[in-house]
Amino acid sequence: MTILPVIPISPDQPDAVSTRRRPSMPPRHLADLDLAGRQSAVASLGEPAFRAKQLSTHYFGRLVRDAAAMTDLPAASRDKLTADLLPTLLTPIREQACDDGATRKTLWRLHDGALVESVLMGYPDRVTACVSSQAGCGMACPFCATGQQGLTRNLSVAEIVDQVVYLAGVAASGAVTGSPPRLSRVVFMGMGEPLANYPRVIEAVRRLTSPAPEGLGLSQRHITVSTVGLVPAMRRLIAEQLSVTLALSLHAPDDDLRDELVPVNQRWKVAEVLDAAFEYAARTGRRVSIEYALIRDVNDQPWRADLLGRLLHGKLAHVNLIPLNPTPGSKWDASPKPVEREFVRRLRESGVSTTVRDTRGREIDGACGQLAAGELTEASAGGAAADAEVAQ
Ligand code: SAH
Repeated sequence: MTILPVIPISPDQPDAVSTRRRPSMPPRHLADLDLAGRQSAVASLGEPAFRAKQLSTHYFGRLVRDAAAMTDLPAASRDKLTADLLPTLLTPIREQACDDGATRKTLWRLHDGALVESVLMGYPDRVTACVSSQAGCGMACPFCATGQQGLTRNLSVAEIVDQVVYLAGVAASGAVTGSPPRLSRVVFMGMGEPLANYPRVIEAVRRLTSPAPEGLGLSQRHITVSTVGLVPAMRRLIAEQLSVTLALSLHAPDDDLRDELVPVNQRWKVAEVLDAAFEYAARTGRRVSIEYALIRDVNDQPWRADLLGRLLHGKLAHVNLIPLNPTPGSKWDASPKPVEREFVRRLRESGVSTTVRDTRGREIDGACGQLAAGELTEASAGGAAADAEVAQ
């Protein structure tokens, strides 16, 4: 297997060792709870139950995240409710924009010092949020910047939801040039492996798709969960009967190469993982998206296009080719355009619908697989143990 250099701790980082802390889950937030849960939380503070709806309407309906702006709440109640249900989960550290304001990346510091990123992408007909589900990632794909960091910890439900609510607020402000002022899609393609944080990601999906004021009211079909292929969790997802879109990061049609590019393949092989993806498609009627980062002279050979074509022929699947975004220190590069075109041609000739993804956000390191938070998190710098669980 190819081992790429680990991103070093920057020498100007304030003494990484002295700030070493065990990563920990954040305090509870209203987005962790469904409406009934919020009602009982409010009641246990001695507040009338209708305050739960009031808070929820501010947060999910009007995208107000700051309690100080909830001026219809009496000051005393507001302080109590804020302390208990609206702790600050995400502190923006840096915001960057490119593509004439159509792509924006936000770097967040979490309560324990861990860093994660979110990206907002505007198109003429829609605005999409790309969110993180974990701080770092434990899947170790050698071409992915986040994969080089290792896992710090899972994000809580509210840490995931709050990224989306924040980005929905940015979209609603009209700040995304040339796009409608409304966030309509969410992709779990930021940092982390969503299916390794299974229960929280599913709960976040429910919160994002429940109608306001319980949730954000997005359509399940407009949410994409992307996975390296944790087969037991994929099967569990089938049983949820959600209609979210499933994306499978395949990157190679053969086990020899996939074992290297997506190390979890050593546990669940190409045939098994495709089987689970096809079953998801059959059960939901929704086409699975097969993600394939084209890497020059690594996985872009005509015979691999043909093999992929044979595997996907006649299936409810779509191939999304991603020109590789080279990460710092990587010896790998994107495939040349003629090679990419030939790969597309062969897949289409096999009857497989294929598109090449646009590479938004490259100049702000906001493109696919480039989210690495720019530096190691305080918590992970010391190699602290993570309390993540791989869903079985
Ligand atoms: N862990 C999940 C989601 C996060 S990454 C997954 O692997 O699916 C979202 C997508 O970006 C995945 O398909 C991932 O393989 C791809 N990706 C990662 N690094 C990349 C890179 N350097 N260039 C292009 N795509 C990359």
